[in-house]
Amino acid sequence: KGSTPERGIPFNAASSLTRVYAVASGKGGVGKSSVTVNLACALAAKGLRVGIVDADIYGFSVPALMGITQAPTRVDEMILPPVAHDVKVISIGMFVTGNQPVAWRGPMLHRALEQFLTDVYFGDLDALFLDLPPGTGDVAISVAQLLPKAEILVVTTPQVAAADVAERAGAIAVQTGQKVAGVIENMSFLTLPDGTTMELFGSGGGEVLAKRLSQTVNSSVPLLGAIPLDVALREGGDIGAPIVLAHPKSPAAVALLAIADKL
Ligand code: ADP
Repeated sequence: KGSTPERGIPFNAASSLTRVYAVASGKGGVGKSSVTVNLACALAAKGLRVGIVDADIYGFSVPALMGITQAPTRVDEMILPPVAHDVKVISIGMFVTGNQPVAWRGPMLHRALEQFLTDVYFGDLDALFLDLPPGTGDVAISVAQLLPKAEILVVTTPQVAAADVAERAGAIAVQTGQKVAGVIENMSFLTLPDGTTMELFGSGGGEVLAKRLSQTVNSSVPLLGAIPLDVALREGGDIGAPIVLAHPKSPAAVALLAIADKL
């Protein structure tokens, strides 16, 4: 059964002031989830009301990155999302017991996402982030249907070859009529102890992707920023303390905070 219009999805309404960002990537491991939680925490730290929907069904990692171990609570028909670092978080991982693999087909994913968006009580939000699974799957299409006003942020590495797969993730927007808000390049370089920088994964991928997507979607897609490799980012993720809060002066945090300012 679908959601009734009265209940609806508040973030869907044309009058809703909530900015909705769907964070996408071509492949896994490029830092999509790390970017999502840090941008969310950066906006929350500025006083905005922020939520995250972790829709990365196969690799849900948002609860761990946010340091959340508690389950959502239920009040009548409503699901109350746990809150960490002033961000309300709901994850598909909170509904899976143990380490069971999730083997859902498209319609089940769609229903799960729809339930998240209708039954989870986020209250009024200024910004809602969706952490999409990597690639161009059913979830991205469901998000487009359920939240047509969601804007897409594409995370990629500097490897130009990786831009091809990332381009497909962004190009879905043409089919769905969504806006691509920008490209974020992650793992752009590593600063060595002697102060020199090393481009471990090559360079130019973010710029190439932004240019190509601008052509594909036929409107300007900005490169919002380049985030360096930073041990503090990985460590913060491992202990559930996002770097923008735990080490705001570290190189990756500075880059992430500058990107958050552009949203
Ligand atoms: P994805 O969501 O794309 O699969 P994650 O955000 O889970 O990627 O990141 C994958 C791994 O890489 C994590 O261990 C994360 O801490 C690490 N990582 C991501 N970005 C950086 C970075 N800029 N510097 C250091 N480690 C990073």
